[in-house]
Amino acid sequence: MLPQYTVDGVISIKALEEKIIREGTVLPGNILKVGGFLNHRIDTAFLKEIGIEIARLYENTGVNKILTIEASGIAIAVAAGFAMNVPVVFAKKHKSSNVEGEVYSSSVESFTHNTVYNVVVSKEYLSSDDKILIVDDFLANGNALLGLAELVETAGAEVVGAAIAIEKGFQCGGEKLRKKGMRVESLAIVENMTENSLTFRPQNNK
Ligand code: 5GP
Repeated sequence: MLPQYTVDGVISIKALEEKIIREGTVLPGNILKVGGFLNHRIDTAFLKEIGIEIARLYENTGVNKILTIEASGIAIAVAAGFAMNVPVVFAKKHKSSNVEGEVYSSSVESFTHNTVYNVVVSKEYLSSDDKILIVDDFLANGNALLGLAELVETAGAEVVGAAIAIEKGFQCGGEKLRKKGMRVESLAIVENMTENSLTFRPQNNK
């Protein structure tokens, strides 16, 4: 099947925005639910186009590995990994902090579960010469991305940037990370959302 979402081979950001409006639901606590195409049932044709768009954004940057976090980042990361022809490593979540030794570890405050958990990656899978692209499904307060960036820095590797499917622009993560100098590319940025309305930040450069 030909992708329905591309214009001249580039994902239509409008298509993602329209899909969010059509299929997304806003839940209490500023949670946007997109289980119908991204987080529970996965629209594979659409995801493939997201991967191609991420590859386009990070073309010629020397990225040699993608890092994401289990579970919901994995699908997008793999789509991007296919398109960029690079491997994907996903950080595993551990509740306790007593995992040491052969792993890099950092702690992350969970947006959706209101807890703090550890993320770990085996030292085997990150090395100091890696140029890492961090990929995730959502960006809210930026804690997941910061935790992943810390893992990369602990390994002595470089964070080239981050690619996010949906940023909630009314939360602080995007601004915080960009101010720190991280390149953050979000395919759709929700500016405002209530149960009845959702608006996006215009992105002229896409
Ligand atoms: P942050 O760490 O930036 O505060 O939150 C990002 C993480 O929380 C992502 O890994 C994502 O899984 C989850 N998350 C944050 N906001 C939402 C949301 O509105 N909807 C869903 N489905 N996940 C979210």
